[in-house]
Amino acid sequence: MQIIRDIATLHRAVTALKQGRKSVALVPTMGALHAGHLSLVRMARRVADHVVVSIFVNPTQFGPNEDYAAYPRDEARDAALLVEEGVGLLWAPDVGTMYPAGHSTHIEVAELGADYCGAARPGHFDGVATVVAKLFNQVRPDVAIFGEKDWQQLAIIRRMARDLDFALDILGAPIARDPDGLALSSRNAYLSKEQRAAATVFPDALKAAAKAIAGGADVAASLAAAETAIVAGGFDSVDYVALADAASLERLTTFREPARLLAAARIGKTRLIDNYPVGG
Ligand code: AMP
Repeated sequence: MQIIRDIATLHRAVTALKQGRKSVALVPTMGALHAGHLSLVRMARRVADHVVVSIFVNPTQFGPNEDYAAYPRDEARDAALLVEEGVGLLWAPDVGTMYPAGHSTHIEVAELGADYCGAARPGHFDGVATVVAKLFNQVRPDVAIFGEKDWQQLAIIRRMARDLDFALDILGAPIARDPDGLALSSRNAYLSKEQRAAATVFPDALKAAAKAIAGGADVAASLAAAETAIVAGGFDSVDYVALADAASLERLTTFREPARLLAAARIGKTRLIDNYPVGG
């Protein structure tokens, strides 16, 4: 596997991969890879001839009091996992390559980025949209894969690609979960043993609410019951538990399909997000 850190070498390598009309899939990540990331890599291998994975812990998507400095980084371990998965190219630029001095352009996907995680993390999605647009221009993939774990992020990237006429397909990959239901996340590494044991209440409560709402229960009461269960189960606070239109992300007060239950909650210093489909 080639590990590339500068844009000129990347362009040469991707051009070589594309020889003979071969297709390239991009899987953007921030590293600290787990089985969720690797499921995206496997999807990429199924849909394209070559897979490029990027690892870049993007400073512009972290708020001033967030975990940028503490975010887990272990490139050697990540690279070994990607070699095992048959990845041909790892794009691992440093911050100065991604944001040279004077970098001053950013992308805001206004409508989809305002609510939910956008409200709790001002500027977060501008940072995500900007870095993903740059990754698309740097790698020029035919297809890019993102996890449904970050449902709002996936919606924002789809909208950005459409609005800015990026000529690539965006695919969403299902959420990979631990056997007890907790969605895999690099941030799960922050949880103490006790917090990790308690965290299972989060997916349990969301799954129960999604089932109740699909079965005709009152939406507001079901969301409130989920919030109560999450806090009773050991979380310190709930940022939001919301029923949303699965595509427009508009908040729904009554159930109609396609709908998605979206949630974020904090346990100790760790903020976890998750989501479930509601109905078919
Ligand atoms: P991250 O490294 O957290 O920025 O995630 C990189 C990509 O992996 C994003 O598209 C995430 O949505 C996706 N991802 C992270 N965790 C999971 C998971 N548990 N299941 C599926 N995709 C995931």
